Amino acid sequence: MHAELAAARANWRYQPAQNLLDGRTILITGAGDGIGRCAALTCAAYGANVVLLGRNQAKLDAVFDEITTTTSTDPTIVPCDLEGATNEAYGELNTQIVDHYGRLDGLLHNASMLGPRVPLEFYDATSWQRVLQVNVTAVFLLTQGLLPALRQSADASVVITSSSVGRVGRAYWGAYAVSKFAAEGFAQVLADELAHEGCIRVTTVNPGATRTTMRTAAYPAEDPTTVPTPESRMDLYLYLLGPGARGRNEIQWDAKDWLP
Ligand code: NDP
Repeated sequence: MHAELAAARANWRYQPAQNLLDGRTILITGAGDGIGRCAALTCAAYGANVVLLGRNQAKLDAVFDEITTTTSTDPTIVPCDLEGATNEAYGELNTQIVDHYGRLDGLLHNASMLGPRVPLEFYDATSWQRVLQVNVTAVFLLTQGLLPALRQSADASVVITSSSVGRVGRAYWGAYAVSKFAAEGFAQVLADELAHEGCIRVTTVNPGATRTTMRTAAYPAEDPTTVPTPESRMDLYLYLLGPGARGRNEIQWDAKDWLP
């Protein structure tokens, strides 16, 4: 029986309906490149109106154009550097989202800074502040600012991107690892605070090794063709952002070994 179960799991494949995200509005940070770009294109392909947040207008324009030529969804670009954005900016963004879409059904915190890969002994304080600002303080500020729009949804999903080094610390991952631990903590506190409301779920996702600019920066000697593509990670993102994960209370998810 155990072998049968193992075989069934090995052959199992998530098959989301093509209209999985129809009518949903999902904001994705770092939507211009890497996993965020792929998540934006994938969510739109499954019907979501995607709010593309990032700091590089040209990259966001390219994603926007691809979405509008391949889908009939209604994307929006939000130029925003998470290093400098203020509470006021996130409050205005909340108002714009509610005015245009009525509500926010998904918030994918994806953008991150890797920072230096050096021992803590030699880690410079400026880099430390910048990495924590982008990877965790901005997650807090943006979530806080958008809670009113999320509360307008009957089934909202906040997904925070973590990392294996945000669950088990490893040498030379510095502020990046510490910021991911903090993001995991933020998710647990927020999930507990919102649990009684029943309409906003909070999860963290470790995408695992994925072929992007950040991966190449972290592992410059690695052959990128041996690393799984962002597309291969999308099933879990779709599941967590879609209605199928409603009522799932587990906070931590890992792309390499999940089953719905
Ligand atoms: P990339 O570096 O390829 O993409 C990161 C995105 O975040 C880019 O679009 C980048 O913008 C944006 N970004 C960075 N800083 C800011 C900022 N200050 N303001 C606005 N946007 C910003 O990374 P990945 O796609 O690999 O990573 C996506 C997520 O997955 C991250 O949270 C990462 O920690 C996590 N992750 C990735 C793994 C991997 O192997 N790739 C493994 C584990 C976790 P720009 O294009 O302008 O640089």
